[in-house]
Amino acid sequence: MKEAFAALVRRSGLDAALRFLVARRRVTIVVYHDPDPDVLRRHLAWYARRYSFTTLDAVADAMDSGRWDTLPRYPLVVTLDDGHLGNAKLEPLFHEYGVRPTMYLCSRIVGTARPYWWQTAAADRIGPEALKIVPDAERRRRLAEAGDDPDRDARGPRQALSWDEARAMAGVYDYGGHTRHHPILLQCDDRTAAEEIGLCKTEIEDALHRPCAHFAYTNGDFGEREVALIRASGYRTARSIEPGWNGPNADPFRLKAFPVSDDVPVDWLAVQITGIPSWARKLKTLLRGRGAGTAPAYPEPASALGGRG
Ligand SMILES: [Zn+2]
Repeated sequence: MKEAFAALVRRSGLDAALRFLVARRRVTIVVYHDPDPDVLRRHLAWYARRYSFTTLDAVADAMDSGRWDTLPRYPLVVTLDDGHLGNAKLEPLFHEYGVRPTMYLCSRIVGTARPYWWQTAAADRIGPEALKIVPDAERRRRLAEAGDDPDRDARGPRQALSWDEARAMAGVYDYGGHTRHHPILLQCDDRTAAEEIGLCKTEIEDALHRPCAHFAYTNGDFGEREVALIRASGYRTARSIEPGWNGPNADPFRLKAFPVSDDVPVDWLAVQITGIPSWARKLKTLLRGRGAGTAPAYPEPASALGGRG
């Protein structure tokens, strides 16, 4: 079914038409988590034939100056969320393709043996989605009670990069903030939300001795409070996972992006970054009368994020 849909979109030329009409002068941002190097190599080769890689700093500069013409045609920014240990293996690939991605780090998980809470046995048992809809203190309590306290070392192998590893790769990656502990910000009280956003920036800057200018919302969830905190903390941009492209009038604190499944075949990748699967899902939700916008629409909720943030 998915293959047939992918073939239909590609044979119709819709993906190429959207690229020509929409993506030529607007920034496409793609979101990865922990892709396998072989899969990512195929993706980068595919992008390289159709887009020009650029950086989030270049996009922020163009937004600040109003000089959108400083960006290349078909600009594309690669981003990676969380700071997964596996990202260290991608460094040579990004080097080879001349890509400078932004990796968004959780400042109290990177450099520790703590787990990504949704990748624990406790979260598996309870269900990551159930943990995303309760107040933050309750999420922590339930995980701790189930045997995977998010503030303690993981029971299995280390999941995140160390600070030394991150520093060693600063020639390839720009580093941004992705909170301290990866809570759902909308479930945090005011003080916790302020710390998760503001201290994340200073902790990353202290550890890496370089500016942390960009932020990515955990699970893509945010409201006016989060935007205000990000602005006040001095970040230049914040990236959501609302599907879409970013033009000269885009809000730098609500950048749109296409989440890409870490293991997606290139045929389906081409479809994912048309936004069609996300918009089709939104429309379906709307027609069912549940109202759009109540939950972020992912291209493939089951596998695109796989319970990841
Ligand atoms: Zn995340």
